[in-house]
Formats: sequence, C-alpha cells, structure tokens
Amino acid sequence: MHDNQTITLGRVTRVLTERLRPAVYSQPQPLDIAAHAVDGEPIPSAQGLSSEYAPIKVGDRWGRAWGTTWLRLTGEVPESFAGRRVEILADLGFDPNMPGFQAEGLVYTADGEAVRSLNPRAQWIPVSPQARGGERIEYYVEAASNPVLLDYHPFLPTEEGDVLTSSDEELYRIRRVDVCVFEEEVYELVHDVEVLHQLAVELPEESARRARILRSLNAALDRVDLQDIPGTAAAAREELREVLASPAEPSAHRLSAVGHAHIDSAWLWPLRETVRKVSRTSSSMVTLLDEDSDFVYAMSSAQQFAWMKQDRPEVFARVKKAVEDGRFVPIGGMWIEPDAVLPSGESFIRQISQGQRFFREEFGIECRGAWLPDSFGYSGALPQILVGSGFDWFLTQKISWNQVNRFPHHTFLWEGNDGSRIFTHFPPMDTYNAQLSGEEVQRAAKQFKEKSVARHSLAPTGWGDGGGGTTREMLARAKRMADLEGSPRVVFESPNEFFDKAMAELPDPGVWRGELYLELHRGTFTTQHRTKQGNRTSERLLAEAELWAATAAARTGHAYPYDEFDALWQEVLLLQFHDILPGTSIAWVHREAEERYARVAASLRRIIEEALAALGVSAGPDGLDAAPVGAELALNAAPVARRGVPAAAVAVADPAAPVSARAEGNSFVLESASVRVEIDDRGLVQSLVDRATGREAIAPGRAGNALQLHQDFPNMWDAWDVDEHYFAMREDLDGPAEVALDGEAVVVRRSFGDSSIEQRLSLSDDGRVLVVDCDIDWQEEEKFLKLAFPVEVFTDEVVAETQFGHHRRSNHTNTSWEAARFETHAQRWFLVREPDFGVAFLNESSHGFDVARESEGRDVVQNARFSLLRAPKFPDPRADRGRHRMRFGVMVGATPASATEAGWALQSPLRAASGAAPRALATSQDAAVIVSAVKLADDRSGDVVVRVYESTGSRVSTSIELADVPVGAVIGTDLIERPGDAIETVRMPDGTTHVPVTLRPFEVKTIRVKR
Ligand SMILES: [Zn+2]
Repeated sequence: MHDNQTITLGRVTRVLTERLRPAVYSQPQPLDIAAHAVDGEPIPSAQGLSSEYAPIKVGDRWGRAWGTTWLRLTGEVPESFAGRRVEILADLGFDPNMPGFQAEGLVYTADGEAVRSLNPRAQWIPVSPQARGGERIEYYVEAASNPVLLDYHPFLPTEEGDVLTSSDEELYRIRRVDVCVFEEEVYELVHDVEVLHQLAVELPEESARRARILRSLNAALDRVDLQDIPGTAAAAREELREVLASPAEPSAHRLSAVGHAHIDSAWLWPLRETVRKVSRTSSSMVTLLDEDSDFVYAMSSAQQFAWMKQDRPEVFARVKKAVEDGRFVPIGGMWIEPDAVLPSGESFIRQISQGQRFFREEFGIECRGAWLPDSFGYSGALPQILVGSGFDWFLTQKISWNQVNRFPHHTFLWEGNDGSRIFTHFPPMDTYNAQLSGEEVQRAAKQFKEKSVARHSLAPTGWGDGGGGTTREMLARAKRMADLEGSPRVVFESPNEFFDKAMAELPDPGVWRGELYLELHRGTFTTQHRTKQGNRTSERLLAEAELWAATAAARTGHAYPYDEFDALWQEVLLLQFHDILPGTSIAWVHREAEERYARVAASLRRIIEEALAALGVSAGPDGLDAAPVGAELALNAAPVARRGVPAAAVAVADPAAPVSARAEGNSFVLESASVRVEIDDRGLVQSLVDRATGREAIAPGRAGNALQLHQDFPNMWDAWDVDEHYFAMREDLDGPAEVALDGEAVVVRRSFGDSSIEQRLSLSDDGRVLVVDCDIDWQEEEKFLKLAFPVEVFTDEVVAETQFGHHRRSNHTNTSWEAARFETHAQRWFLVREPDFGVAFLNESSHGFDVARESEGRDVVQNARFSLLRAPKFPDPRADRGRHRMRFGVMVGATPASATEAGWALQSPLRAASGAAPRALATSQDAAVIVSAVKLADDRSGDVVVRVYESTGSRVSTSIELADVPVGAVIGTDLIERPGDAIETVRMPDGTTHVPVTLRPFEVKTIRVKR
C-alpha cells in the first residue's frame, strides 16, 4: 500500500482544529450583558448580586488591574433549543495560553448559589441538560481582572504587581456571551479523534497500530459532512469504534490520574485573590464530581479549605459533602505547601500539626502523605519530620527542574539526615498540571526510572492557580485511555490508592540519602531579605512566647493563650508558602508579608511580657537592639546556656568577657581571651586569631569582611535564580572606607553605587565570636552582594546547620552533582573544619551562602561567603531595595556543637531583666541535646509538651530535668502529640524530676508531661 500517513495527520489536525472543535457549540444567540465595576477591593457576593448594573456589550473594555467587575448575563432559551443540552459560552477576553494568570470569574445563579468558575480553559456555564424553550436565563459573574504578569519569556519588570502602582487601564475586552446548543455527539467525536491522533503521533512510524489508527481516522473523516457535522458525527465515530476498543498491552504503564489544581497561596497575585481562586476552582470541581462518578479530586493546604469555609461557605458545604464521599480528597496534611528548606524544624512540625488538626476537626480524617510538588529543594531533615508525624508517603516533582543532573529514581525511599526513610514518588510526567495529552502520558511511561520493576506512576491532573482545575475534556481523554492499545492505562484515583499500589509493587525500592537539592532557583535562599527576617524573628518569638507562657501556665495558672497562638502560628505558616518565604512573589505580597510580620511580632512581644510578668520578671528590650547586660539579672530565651545563665531561664549572668578595642598604627584591634581581630584602615579583617591555639584563620594575603558585588542577571527567573555565570563578574568593595573606633566596636562606613553600608564589628559578650552588624541602604539593580571571609582550612566539605541537626556537603566540583551546588543554604550556621580547628559562620536571618574552594599553591583557601542581598526586577521590580539590618558572626576554633550554641546566641541576645529569677521548666542534662520547644499540649488539656533533639550527630543517653512544676505521668508522643509509650521518671532529692531520654544521631523526641 502507498504510505499516506503524513497526509492523514495533516488532515486530522486541520479538521479537528478548524471544524470539529468549533462545531461542539451550535446556533449561538447573544445574551444581554450588564456590569457593575466594584470600587476598590472585592465585595461580598450578596452585595455584588444586588448592585446597580449598567448595560455593556461585546467589544467593550472592562477591568482595571486587580479590580472586580460583577457581570449580569440575561436572556431566554430560544424555542428551537427545546429538549437540547444548552450552555452559555462566555469569553471575557481570555488568552487561552495563560489559565490562572489572568482574568477569572465565579458564576452565580440569581439566588446566590456559586455554580462554577469561568476561565480561559472552561468558558462555559451550564444552563440545562434538557432545556425548555423560553426558559429565563439569569447568571452573575464575579469577574476578577487580574493582570497578566507572566506570559511568554522574557519576563519583564512591571508595575502592575501592586495595587499601589498598577495602571488604571482596562485590561480586557468582552468577546462573546452566547447561549448555545451543546452538540454532545460532536463533543464525543472530538475526543475520539483527538486521543487517537495524539496516540498515533507518539507511536513509532513503522508501528502497525499507528497505521491502523490513521487508516481509521481517515475513514472517520470521510464520513464527516463539514456542512452538517452534528448530523454525521455518529457515523464518523462508528469508524473509530474498533481502534478505540483494542485493549492495552499487559505490560502497559499505569497512570493514576489525580484531579488537582496547584493553587499557589500567593504569587503573581495577593493572598486575598487566592481566597477567591480556591473557591472558584473548588466550585467547578464539586460540580464535575457530581457529573462524573469516575472523577476524584485532591486538594492540599488546610489554609485553603479554611479560606473557603470563611469566604464561601456555600462552596465549602458542597466540598465537605464530597470529602465525606471520599471523592474530594484533602491531601498533604500541612497548613500550606511551604518552602521546604528555609523554615525551622518546629515550623515544619506545626505545618503538619495545624494542617492535620484542621482536617481531623472538619472532616474527621488525617492525611497519610505529604504533598509538596513545587517547593524549591527539600531539607534532609524532612524524612524524620514526616515519618515522625505519622506520614507514610511523600510526593514531589520539582527535582525534575534540575538544570544539570537527572535524578535516578521516580519511586524510591528518601533517607534523611538521621536515617529515617519515607516512601517517595516523583511523577515521571514531570508536571503537576497534567492535561493527559498523548505526549504527556507517553512521556511518563518512557521516563519512568523504575520501569524494569514497577509500572505505576501518578499524574496530578488539572490547571492550577485559578485555571479551573481538572476539565471535563481531561476526563474524556482519561476514559478513552483506560484500556487502549499503545497507550498507558489511565484511571482517576486518589493519591492513597496510587501509593498503596506503588508500595505493593516495589517492596525493595532504591534509596536516596540526604537532602533533595534543586539545581535551580538558588536565589531563593536570599531574595526578599525582609520577608526572610520576618520569618526568622517570628519563629524565634513564637518559641520564646510558648516557653514563657507554658512556664507561667504550669507554675502560676497564667492563662495560656491557645487561640492566639493558633492564629499567630497559622499566620507565620501561611507566610512560609513556597512563593512568599523564597521571595518570588509580586511587590504587593512582600509588602503585606512585612506588615503581617510586624503585627505578629507585636502580639508575641505582648504575650511574652504578660507571661514574664506572671513569673515576676520584667525584661528589657528584645531583638538586635537588646540592651547590653549590666543589670542584676539576665533573661536567656535561647535553648543554650550562656554566661552562666542556663538555657530558657533568668539568672545572674557572669560578667561579659573583657574586650579590648584599640587603634594600633593604621589598624584597629579587637581582643578578648578567645580571639584577636585586626582590622585595617579599609575595614578589612587582616587577621583573625584563635588565641587558644594561636591559629590564624584568615588565609595569607587575603582579608575578611570583604564585600563583593556581582552582576546578577540570570537567564530566566530573576527573583528565583542565581546562574553560575554570576561568579565571573565581581567588584571588590575594598577601597577607602571611613573606619573608626566606637566604644568596644570598630565602625566601617562605605558607599558603593547608589548604596551605602555601615558595619559595626565587635566581639560577642562571651568574647568568642566576631560579630558583624550590617546596616545597609541597598539601592542597586540586578546585583548580588556577598560578604567574604577567605580562611585557610584544609577540607573538602562544608557542614551546614539544618533543621534539628546539620549535614555535610562536598565543596569540590568533582562531579556534576557537586558542581551544581555552587550556592546553598543553612539554618543558623555553616562551618569549615580540620580535625582540630574549625571556623563557623553564623547568621541571624539570612540563609544563602557559598564556599568556593580556591587553591593558592599547595594551600587550600575556603572562600566562605554569606549571601546578603539581591536586587532582581521580576516579579517585584524593586525587590530588596531599601534599608536592611542584618547580623553575622565568625567564630574561630568552632565545632558543630559550639557553632550550634553560638548560632542560637547570635539571633537571641541575652536581655536585661529584673524581679524574680525563675528556673528553666525543662533543662537538658547534656549540651548535645537541645530543648527546642516547650509548650502546652494542642489538645488544651494543660499538659506540658517538651521537644528535644540531638544536635551533634552522636548517640546520647541523658535526662530532661523538669523543675518547679507538678509532674504526673510522662509519655513519649509522636511529633504531632499522638500518644506513645509511658516513660519512667526519677524524682530527684532537690525536688526536680528527671525524664530519661536516649537519642540517635539527630533524633527528635517529644515528651508529654501530664499534670
Ligand atoms: Zn507552586
């Protein structure tokens, strides 16, 4: 036979696009349109429905950036439509390529019932499956004119990203609002043809299956009368029946499609818009669940359910019913989908405890797995946190975005820092917005790394971000691919059903040890510093407020502010969302985050003050400006002892270490019993000596406190990315500076570009750490500022604090995996170390750093550099511009243990106090074991919950001392306070109670003390 495959493919493409798809809707009749443009922020739906409307027409403009316009669509069903399925087609001026990133609407009936969302990929409103002629049509659309900020690369700076700077221009133009007949047979034909066409394209050219499909498609199109498509569609479908009925091969890959919409909790829109996006998408999804019994939809983030409950109770009621039926499936078990490297360990636990509690209380369920498809890398502390909170699976997908290396698994065990392992899946389709196209399903099957031993993978299916979620078209494709020769089998099911199958078929999965580093988006450890500082300050104050409030409650009956703590935690957890904390949102979002953090801090400081007052303590100011301690008492909120003040206690402090600050010739010297620092007249640290060993840390011929400014213009994602080539363009800010002694500090003032910086170099009050306080007026564009300390330390690894411990990363570039990690992150410190000498680098609020391993002859220099500030222009055109205060520390003679202590101390200075001197409620008897949280139990029983972790990577048996508190039974719990085994305690002669604990390296344990 002659080969006509190419001609057939071309024919199908054209007929499908130009004739069949448009023929799904017939006999369009325009409806009347009226509009009410809301002045300012969104209004409640009842108010929108009852507003004054003015007529507008097709072709009219509507909607300035971030505005809301209520549209009223009225008319009647033509008599000729009687008995037919009738829908409205409403195109508000959509761009079909950008679902979720532009205008959207929520459709209401005249009675105020939310029907479904209106968006670029679902421009229809159901009228009736069997219409009556003359039937009255009246719908309302709450339409949001969100500006398009990200469409086609390049992503250019824009002022539309904040309502304070956006234009007044009306952004959209109404294209059509018609009532139409929905031609069901044509709709089915479209999907028959589309699925077979996309399958044929994917099959090998020489395959018999492909040849048969194309022959059938040709025959089907021969039956289509292009002048009467509805009248001939059934005959055309008949030609396709046989090829559609041919079953899948026994070895076919099996795709578990999960209906989904990845809705970023804020990003290129403000938080308040996400509230509406969630309700719009959810209203469509419950409608689709009603219409198709095969469909299953899964949604993460307790916060998003909570918004819906608050903002659109009518939608939430339908969702709740569908959750009870097991078809609208809450997943992930967290409050939101957070950034997965920057939050503290306690924050990760609260993401889960707050999330699971919401799901338990609202729906009577708990989630089995963690769902973080889109965060920018995953901490090696997470496996322990997930397993320790009762999860048995983890899903992500983002590592497929790696710039360099392909990850070796799709289904595997992920082993964390402490050895905990969790069953993990990366969808091999490489997307969390699957459409179930032929290309996608084949990609999943081809790429699946475990295909020699397993055959199940997951496909999160649907448009995210307000694009409307799963569409009926996706379901139509899935039905045809349920059992189709040449195609993977597709079935809609819940994530738990998928994971059960995946676990059963792969009893011995491969193992990946340690963090999941994303080889992309390395700027997110640094961008939008004020947001990151707000998070760190909030985490610190939350820990302190819970500590003192729990202590006061247990000892004095002080009222523990449960509700307020829940609200404050939820606020902080929300702002850890994976486009807020990483610094990748629009200006509006970061402006609001800073305002919210200020309110959180004010509330927490008040809670702390009240709790301390109940304990008889009055304390001086908190934060970086904490007054130097000369007072009678010192308050230590950190979980490490300092200057004789036990952790989490108030006591008389030992005197601060004597420090000498003096000028010597052209230099300045800071000296204590521990270190000697020499600073030259340009403000550079020429010498940093550990006096215990006499060891000089600064590499010969080099200088520390060296500010380095790089050009920073990544290839694609400005706020997200630092691309490797940034390194080559560097300006050393080492010219003349104003340097002067100020008390026990050396102050360095320097200007560069349009910016200026004042650095205050001093020694910590224990005399062990060189503290560098930076006060920066940052006015650069597309620059990256680093603070370097080149040190002479022979090592090929960097130790970095992570949540609940630390981990090691190679800092050579032997393999592509190591080379790709040229910018990484830490919690409070990182460290380079020889067996008997180390230098630790401490931060108070910044996470990004790099350590370049540089060779000077046979000496190896570790050029350790803090990442201070970036200045990307998209999506916030002025990200990071303005004033910043940040604190760093350099500690010579450091070990992981001393760095851990110094890291806590740097971010939580001792505070002057007066009044009583309460002992710590819970104290670890071993410095390696940190008491990281003291709080009252979530169940409001009044029990005290104490969380501890092993911080050095050792095995430790010790005890936790409980002082001045009645102690009943003590039990271990999991991380979210579900009860475990009883623990035998020991009553000590001094009246305290000792709770024995044995910990593996980096193990986290939770103890519950009944009262
Ligand atoms: Zn996302």
